[in-house]
Amino acid sequence: MTAQLIDGKLIAQQVRDGVAAEVAKRTAAGKPKPKLVTVLIGDRPDSMAYVTSKGKACVELGMDSGNHHLPGDASQEQVEELVRGLNADPAVSGILVQLPMPAHINEERVLSLINIEKDVDGFSPLNIGRLAQKGRDPLFVPCTPYGCIYLLEAVGVKIEGANAVVLGRSNIVGMPAALLLIGKNATVTVCHSRTRDLPGVVRQADIVIAAIGKTEMVRGDWIKPGAAVIDVGINSVPDATKKSGHRLVGDVNFEEVKEVAGWLTPVPGGVGPMTIAMLMKNTLRAAQIQQGE
Ligand code: NAP
Repeated sequence: MTAQLIDGKLIAQQVRDGVAAEVAKRTAAGKPKPKLVTVLIGDRPDSMAYVTSKGKACVELGMDSGNHHLPGDASQEQVEELVRGLNADPAVSGILVQLPMPAHINEERVLSLINIEKDVDGFSPLNIGRLAQKGRDPLFVPCTPYGCIYLLEAVGVKIEGANAVVLGRSNIVGMPAALLLIGKNATVTVCHSRTRDLPGVVRQADIVIAAIGKTEMVRGDWIKPGAAVIDVGINSVPDATKKSGHRLVGDVNFEEVKEVAGWLTPVPGGVGPMTIAMLMKNTLRAAQIQQGE
């Protein structure tokens, strides 16, 4: 094995500890606790689980949390009215409308409504637009890509000047990850389902971020020796040895890639824990912005 594993669990805990310490300092100084409010529309079990763990993380770090659970057939107007109310509520630091929203809801309109200073998921067109523009800083960066870059920097991978290949161009992971890497002066190639010769493109990369949602698709012989590989994928595969009958694997073939890469994130325990840690960091930042800090 050549790769050093990037311990996302440990690094996420360090981020959370930093947030908790800052929250405690603020609270001791008499400032209001940062408060994250989530909005869940419908009953998707995965979304319900995500919203629950976000609320739990807030409490663990000394912050306040709230959740509004709307029925799956809630109207566009109901959702927008709720967001407008949260925008206007001074007790709310951060607003997160859990994605995906039901198909009948105009997601773009809802995300556009969130006050940029409370947009802790970083998906408001204003924050994404700023991320895409040179010399403009978003107030918040989407949590999963933010976590990917944080991991690279935490272990000392040099981003500036590196050839980076991002697999996937989704609004929530691939595209913002590519924009962040460009902002840090990497030379970035974004791959997607129509890319020709994916293995050949990936072989040029010093840094690979894989976010395609395809079980163990990235093979060992795609990887340049010594490259840093960040595996965002979460895929469930059957496993009779597990009580649940399944286990989680990434978009990267871990066993093969660990023999070639310089750095590699495991699944689980890599990018996964970073997403909520970065959300907590963004929520604290939102409270600071609203206090004029
Ligand atoms: P997504 O919206 O489905 O996007 C997948 C992207 O991969 C698309 O751009 C798609 O290309 C591309 N793609 C699909 N098949 C491909 C192929 N065979 N070759 C090259 N590119 C291909 O997925 P996502 O929301 O970005 O999520 C990606 C993965 O990350 C999933 O496994 C998800 O569960 C995981 N995830 C993890 C976290 C975390 O916290 N760790 C957070 C979010 C997502 P087109 O654009 O051409 O369709």
